Amino acid sequence: MRYPQLFLNVKKARSFKGYHPWVMDRSVIEPAAPLTAGETVELLFPDGRWIGRGVYNPHSRIRVRLYQWDAGAELDAAWCQTQLARAVALRTARAAVHGQLSAVRLVNSEGDGLSGLVVDRFGEYLVVQITSQAMLNWLQPITEWLVEHLQPKGILLRMDPRTASSEGMEPREEVLWGESPSGPIEIVEHDVRLKIDLLSGQKTGYYLDQRANRLRAAQWVAEGPLLDVCCYLGGFSLTAARWGKATRIMAVDSSIRALEQADENAKLNGFDNVDFVQADCFDYLEHLSQEKQQFQTVVLDPPRMASNRAQVTAALRAYYRLNLSAVNVLQPGGMLVTCSCSGRVERSDFAGMLASVARRAGRSVQIVEAFGADFDHPVDVNCPETEYLKCFICRVR
Ligand code: SAH
Repeated sequence: MRYPQLFLNVKKARSFKGYHPWVMDRSVIEPAAPLTAGETVELLFPDGRWIGRGVYNPHSRIRVRLYQWDAGAELDAAWCQTQLARAVALRTARAAVHGQLSAVRLVNSEGDGLSGLVVDRFGEYLVVQITSQAMLNWLQPITEWLVEHLQPKGILLRMDPRTASSEGMEPREEVLWGESPSGPIEIVEHDVRLKIDLLSGQKTGYYLDQRANRLRAAQWVAEGPLLDVCCYLGGFSLTAARWGKATRIMAVDSSIRALEQADENAKLNGFDNVDFVQADCFDYLEHLSQEKQQFQTVVLDPPRMASNRAQVTAALRAYYRLNLSAVNVLQPGGMLVTCSCSGRVERSDFAGMLASVARRAGRSVQIVEAFGADFDHPVDVNCPETEYLKCFICRVR
């Protein structure tokens, strides 16, 4: 073997199934001679059996990211480009049936065998988000492949500063290729026009994972007022305005920047029944509940509440508080669309939280439909932790 070898420690070896892309710091025996971040390594069981080939990072709790389980195959630029081609082909296979989407996630990190790489297409632009040091090794071949096969106007690099620091990387935000958009760019989703700021918007600009759920939610929006909590650019509200029967829509978020864009988006579509409110979701829902306001539909799509196992209990308490207030402002027979993007919070625990809410409120809550992220966010069965999104559509009596 040509690369430095790293051994799994005996205690972890028994439960290690071998195909998970993350190998944590406590699972490996540190090498006698120090390795540098970004080096390719071979991972072996304590008895010497080969597991896979990956990339070492001494700064990250994910000490090794595994990418190659075929001992005879390389882990190089050509490998990375093949993975990209597969990922894009998956999206094309589906888009062929449903028509061209103007915004789509082309690469979904572990779900596409490229741990730490996200590529979203927004119209003629691509946004690349790097969340692992390992992916910096292939930034050049990635950019070249995207330019050659997708011919974008520009490719932007985004990095979340917190994730970058957990990987020991300098956060970078730059134009990797071509031109930068001069302002927000327009996409169309479910016949709704949306302007999105790729340079300063949250994450890569827009939450594509909720695409299908926005339409599914809209299908349940009956006549009456709708409350959209944590609305960002207005995705759920505007889809409901287009396809649902809401009379008035009130959309709440803490980010003034998001709300200004959301308000422009409502005007762009000619919707004049949407009001945007800047507020903290917890305070505002409790305030509405005290005021005895009533809605036909409430959408709850708060940000991630738990980023590790220790935070799960507190996250469930926060979800409980939000959902209880939401149920309190729902008229009998109303619909609650409640989401969680905390991967650490299990689907069953989220449902259990709703049961506590129902008991406390003295209401009946039926889960009518339950979903995850849209098709362009595939999940590798070996890495179930990345299946983070839950969206329950519930009838509340
Ligand atoms: N529903 C949106 C996505 C929501 S992402 C869509 O369909 O695209 C979560 C949103 O919650 C972000 O817009 C963020 O600005 C907002 N947010 C974060 N903390 C908040 C808080 N305490 N109160 C209200 N909004 C909050």
